[in-house]
Amino acid sequence: MTTISPLIAGNWKMNGLTHSLGELTELARLLTAGEAPRALVVVCPPATLLAAVAAQGASSGIIAGGQDCHVNASGAHTGDIAAGMLADAGAQYVIVGHSERRTDHAETDDEVRAKAEAAIGAGLKPIICVGETEQQRDAGDAEAVVIAQIDGAIPDAAEQHEIIVAYEPIWAIGTGRTPSLEEIAQIHRVIRDRLVERFGERGQIIRILYGGSLKPHNAREILAVENVNGGLVGGASLLAKDFYTIISAV
Ligand code: PGA
Repeated sequence: MTTISPLIAGNWKMNGLTHSLGELTELARLLTAGEAPRALVVVCPPATLLAAVAAQGASSGIIAGGQDCHVNASGAHTGDIAAGMLADAGAQYVIVGHSERRTDHAETDDEVRAKAEAAIGAGLKPIICVGETEQQRDAGDAEAVVIAQIDGAIPDAAEQHEIIVAYEPIWAIGTGRTPSLEEIAQIHRVIRDRLVERFGERGQIIRILYGGSLKPHNAREILAVENVNGGLVGGASLLAKDFYTIISAV
């Protein structure tokens, strides 16, 4: 069996001002105080803090990531940010296709795929998000929805370039609710099978993160599920102590 080193990414969403960097300093202290973490640690702050996170995190192994990028490399797109700009600010990863972007900005799988391609083109590793709504799960459609998103949002370039998949059931995000361990194992297995079907051997080593109310109290059991290769953490990534507990759970 192939072993994949785990990755824990924090998604600060639209939270964080300069003083929030105190939490980053505390996280860096925790990460360097004890044994080195098994997981790669990524923090995705708002773009305004990206360069500071990249600079301050470097000495403790914290890697900076963006939360979104435009499909184009530059141009007349007021308010948007290009993948190359994120890389220029020190990012190595970028989240694309988060359900909040799909909802707030009507992003489609085609657009998410183009963003992932733009990220790869700029030398970033895209964290491509998929996940079903509660209604879709209740209707028994969760697997079909997620597979369609995998097929539509992951670019062929994943054959040669590193990408990460994040499975985030929408109904679990920010709600304190999570699927059962069996449900997580089942859908991560389905995702793995599809990745292997499409990318062969390479599909075996693509990280599949779980996201959605991943917290200090449930991290250990969820992160131990087969084919869960780390986590994407929203709310609990805002407090260094909580995020560190999750990082230490793998
Ligand atoms: P949550 O968010 O951990 O607050 O549920 C996860 C995410 O949206 O990535």
